Amino acid sequence: MQTPHDGPMSDVMSETCECREHGEQPVTLVCKHILAASGEIGGFVTYESQHEDDLRDAWCEVCEAHLNARGGDRAEGSVEVPDGFFPLCAQCYRAREANARRAGRRFIHRA
Ligand SMILES: [Zn+2]
Ligand SMILES: [Zn+2]
Repeated sequence: MQTPHDGPMSDVMSETCECREHGEQPVTLVCKHILAASGEIGGFVTYESQHEDDLRDAWCEVCEAHLNARGGDRAEGSVEVPDGFFPLCAQCYRAREANARRAGRRFIHRA
């Protein structure tokens, strides 16, 4: 049982970035497809968060299919998507998540 979020990952979660739209925001990590998405989202897959500010790494249906093709081995905190994860501001993350939820394309893995 790996718990990378307990170690160095908690430092990552407290980092901030400067978003062109939203200014200084906490950083989240998403796959390149979610990063590039504007408007329609091709899925939004995450782990269940523990509280409102607990924004987990998120990836799309394409990346999810890739993970499933490799046996669906998704240890939380060590998910690897084809092109890696990219930083995204927390507000942008929430906006994409909301879009996906409206489209019924948001999936949450229970840890
Ligand atoms: Zn993706
Ligand atoms: Zn933003």
